[in-house]
Amino acid sequence: MATSLGTTSPNRREHARDRAVRAAVAQGLLSAEEPVAALLDTAGIRASAAALTSAFAAVTDAPVLHAFAVKAAPLVPVLRLLYEAGLGAEVASPGELALARAAGVPPSRTVLDSPAKTHAELRQALGLGIAVNADNLQELARLDGLLPSAAGAPPVGLRVNPQVGAGAIGAMSTATATSKFGVALRDDGAREAVVQAYLDRPWLTRLHTHTGSQGVPLPLMAEGVRAAYALAEEINDRAGRRQIDTLDIGGGLPVNFASDEDTPTYAAYAGLLAATVPGLFDGRYALVTEFGRSLLAKHGTVLARVEYTKTSGGRPIAVTHAGVQLAVRTVYAPGSWPLRILAYDAEGRPRAGEPAVVQDVAGPACFAGDLLATGRALPPLRPGDVVAVPDTGAYYFAHHYAYNSLPRPAVYGFTRAAEGGTVFSLVRRAQTLDEIVAESGGGRPDALTA
Ligand SMILES: *Cc1c(COP(=O)(O)O)cnc(C)c1O
Repeated sequence: MATSLGTTSPNRREHARDRAVRAAVAQGLLSAEEPVAALLDTAGIRASAAALTSAFAAVTDAPVLHAFAVKAAPLVPVLRLLYEAGLGAEVASPGELALARAAGVPPSRTVLDSPAKTHAELRQALGLGIAVNADNLQELARLDGLLPSAAGAPPVGLRVNPQVGAGAIGAMSTATATSKFGVALRDDGAREAVVQAYLDRPWLTRLHTHTGSQGVPLPLMAEGVRAAYALAEEINDRAGRRQIDTLDIGGGLPVNFASDEDTPTYAAYAGLLAATVPGLFDGRYALVTEFGRSLLAKHGTVLARVEYTKTSGGRPIAVTHAGVQLAVRTVYAPGSWPLRILAYDAEGRPRAGEPAVVQDVAGPACFAGDLLATGRALPPLRPGDVVAVPDTGAYYFAHHYAYNSLPRPAVYGFTRAAEGGTVFSLVRRAQTLDEIVAESGGGRPDALTA
């Protein structure tokens, strides 16, 4: 068999999704009260976790902690699923740490990164035994005051920015010359200051880098890792011992939003790393990775009812309930983040057999830019139809934006039952109107007038 462990063929993914849409409609997941919902493919998430684990196991015997970047899908059941699949959690705020803890991810499998950790956050993480990556030299100085007292302190690292350059999307590129993350390694005097920081701190045993996210090509990511590896070697040489014992190489594998194919693969990236940074995998360093988007994106689908259809300036428009509140990047940066739109009829069957019509697919918000797709050739949509927006498992519906006080939608996991049906399980229920009011100062209406 040519297929490696954990990959999902595009056809299988399409069939699984079509079955799930049909079942979601049949089981009433979409209703007048909840005209939008999100689905997560449980088996797909497991398959991606297995693909990641096996890709690194194929190139190294070194211990590897794959710490899922919680920000990509901050849902407790997702973190639990990934933990049971052998992964850990990378957290970057007290909220994300709380989610990882609620999911039962132990401190030994948790890593704290963030450019703005407070004293209290650092103290809590160290107290819990969570590995910390400092962002900058000021944070290291802060840790000086906290660490010597913390007996049996967890591992601490420093994030460096190798300044290897930007990918296709500036806002997703973290290794530019002026990125806000890490110590900028090529700035005047910075490299020497970093080496000295390690020589001064025997407890500083990790080195961290994360070169970017969507839009950063694999060779550029590998260059960033190569630069961090070279720095670790230099520091260990200067220290005369293997002070740095763990390299945290970050996440950032880009995702293919154009089709159901998983490209690039974890295996391709691991192979490229092995070729670009041969010493990385020879067992002298333990490894941490922090993949987010690539583990979840392909396994999430937004479903929304078409409420109305109309024509404006000759352009057909389908007005749906999925818009800016769920697909923030798509709506604000449609050039960088085009999403596919799939058309289903009111029973959840794929719409087919009619010539495609060039149309816009709009969201519900009172904002002219709230368009999921413009000028897209799709089967003619009708009121009551269902549109599906695939590849939204990371950074979309789990990143709800409260525009127009539109509620957070329900999220359901789905699996295939032994008898062939689809079983849904509620991951997060929809936000209620009472909750929206309460979270909007509803308990203190007189706060500005009393
Ligand atoms: C966002 C982030 C990640 C995950 O990036 P993805 O593109 O979702 O894989 C990993 N590490 C750090 C430090 C991050 O900020």
